[in-house]
Amino acid sequence: MENENAWIEIQYDHLQHNVLEIKKLLPKKTTFMAVVKANAYGHGLIQVATYLNTIGITSFGVARIEEAVELRKAGIKGEILVFGYTSPDQCQVLSDYDIMQTVVDVEHARALEEMNIPIKVHIKIDTGMHRLGIDFQRMEELVAIFQYRYLCIEGMYTHLCVCDSQQQDDVDFTNQQIDAFYQVIESLKVHQIKVPKIHIQSSYGVLNYPLLSCDYARIGIAMYGILSTDDHRTIRKVNLKPVLSIKAKVISIRTVPAGETIGYGRTYVCHNETQVAVIPVGYADGIPRNFETQGGYVIIRGQKVPIVGRICMDQMTIDISQYDVKIGDTVTVIGHKRDSISVENIATMCDTITNEVLSRLNNRLPRIDIKAKKIYQTNINYSKKSNLG
Ligand SMILES: *Cc1c(COP(=O)(O)O)cnc(C)c1O
Repeated sequence: MENENAWIEIQYDHLQHNVLEIKKLLPKKTTFMAVVKANAYGHGLIQVATYLNTIGITSFGVARIEEAVELRKAGIKGEILVFGYTSPDQCQVLSDYDIMQTVVDVEHARALEEMNIPIKVHIKIDTGMHRLGIDFQRMEELVAIFQYRYLCIEGMYTHLCVCDSQQQDDVDFTNQQIDAFYQVIESLKVHQIKVPKIHIQSSYGVLNYPLLSCDYARIGIAMYGILSTDDHRTIRKVNLKPVLSIKAKVISIRTVPAGETIGYGRTYVCHNETQVAVIPVGYADGIPRNFETQGGYVIIRGQKVPIVGRICMDQMTIDISQYDVKIGDTVTVIGHKRDSISVENIATMCDTITNEVLSRLNNRLPRIDIKAKKIYQTNINYSKKSNLG
């Protein structure tokens, strides 16, 4: 990290730990489908998927066909399921790269079939979320789709929309969703249709509805070692370790006289002479801009140091008056629970969920495999020679 002044640390041993911990909760027959959409929740799509392949994970879920093709081009082995909509015009791509596609509604099924290209699909069933899926009551249309020639139906699934909640009405609703899904399965059997592989649970589905026994569990956030907020209680407890941290170095320090202000909008007024340090991480790197107004802070040598003034696109300013901080000191911007600056803390303070904070991280900061001391992703090749070709 000698040359870096801000970076994302990835701990692959933690990724493996989380996969093994979650697998312990799954029935033997249930395949762990690693959800790596949105750049693997900000952790780096190709690096994460490649690592998961090396530890035996061969089932992946993504949101978009672009992500699936990227995985294939990087040589990722196993099944890849696209959860989101794909245009029928891209059927050939699905076929060429052996990508499984979700059927998002009856019209989508028909349009995909009409392309006359054999593709593998999972049919999504809408059991109450009312976003994607074929309504669980539209059995006749569903049965007709099972007779299609070009859609090879490998799976059928639904998605739960309040399975993270322990409130009774939410638990009741989730159980209704689950019942509706199994009702569809029973109807298929009545119609003598072979039931494909089934799946229902995402991370919270596994943690709160552990008795379900499906062919896959689609695991995103928990695999990355965190939950969506820091106050979520789950039925099953699982020992998770966060995979990602964001660190930076203090790059500049200045003394600002009493009465002066800091940053855009002059929102922060220095009541006393203030020692201000600058850290080269901003909202363009995924730190929510409103973190400052929510009492945002960073950690330096175990101490909470407050962010003062607006978080800028590329940097933030902190008040180090009370601390002994020098240029080059390492700052933890996102750490683990034990550092008192977990992504759960930040998400909860900013009134969002960790899923949003992580998935908005982009590729500007290099991602570093902390154990191997290897930089996996830098935005620029510094070698002048190779730049010139
Ligand atoms: C994103 C997603 C998941 C993973 O959800 P987590 O809560 O992160 O585990 C599972 N299923 C579908 C359909 C998704 O879109």
